[in-house]
Formats: sequence, C-alpha cells, structure tokens
Amino acid sequence: MLPHNRLTMKRLLQAPNLVLATLWADQLSAAGIDASVQRAYASGIVGHIPPDQSLPEVWVEDDERLEQARSLLDDWRHAPHRTWACPGCHEIVDGPFEQCWNCGADRPADPQDPAV
Ligand SMILES: [Zn+2]
Repeated sequence: MLPHNRLTMKRLLQAPNLVLATLWADQLSAAGIDASVQRAYASGIVGHIPPDQSLPEVWVEDDERLEQARSLLDDWRHAPHRTWACPGCHEIVDGPFEQCWNCGADRPADPQDPAV
C-alpha cells in the first residue's frame, strides 16, 4: 500500500493568468517551497466555462510553508527595482520576473546595465 500523504495542500492565491501562476509556482519551488498550479475549476467541462472563471491557482504543497510563501510573493510583487515595461504588450511588470506576466515575453536587457 502507498503511505498516506500527510501533507496538507493549501491554496496560496488565484493568479490572473496561467503564465503568472506558473512563474510564481516556479519561483516558489526555486526558493525551496513546493508549489503547483491548479485550475480553479479543474473538474469543469472544458469549453463551457468562460476564461475569466477558470483562473489558475497556486497551491503550496505543505501548509506549514504557506506564510513563508505569502511573504516571498509579497516581496516579489513589490520589488521596485525590477520594474520593467514589456516590449511585446507594454505591460508594466513588477518584481523579479524574467517574463511578462501578461503575454509571456522575455524581459528585455536591463536598460541600466552600464555595458549597454
Ligand atoms: Zn507582455
């Protein structure tokens, strides 16, 4: 028999789109917090749910890490020194993200880089 999984998954937040949800889950995993992306209505019938009602969610695998994950996300979302404008859709992206959370475009070269 498989051992019973005693970890309690907790929903961290609902993301505005799948790109951002995946980005956050990846960043959390990189920080040592197991996270995964879940669909808000995973059991729904595909094609019958408006896109804005099937937003992705970021779940933390271990509920004891939930507060840590929250504060990390808070830091990322409010890091003022990494604000950049997306070259693809002109979205302003805040935090240590290497991709636009609106369209998924890669972050352009840092305009403050002295080598440019
Ligand atoms: Zn974009």
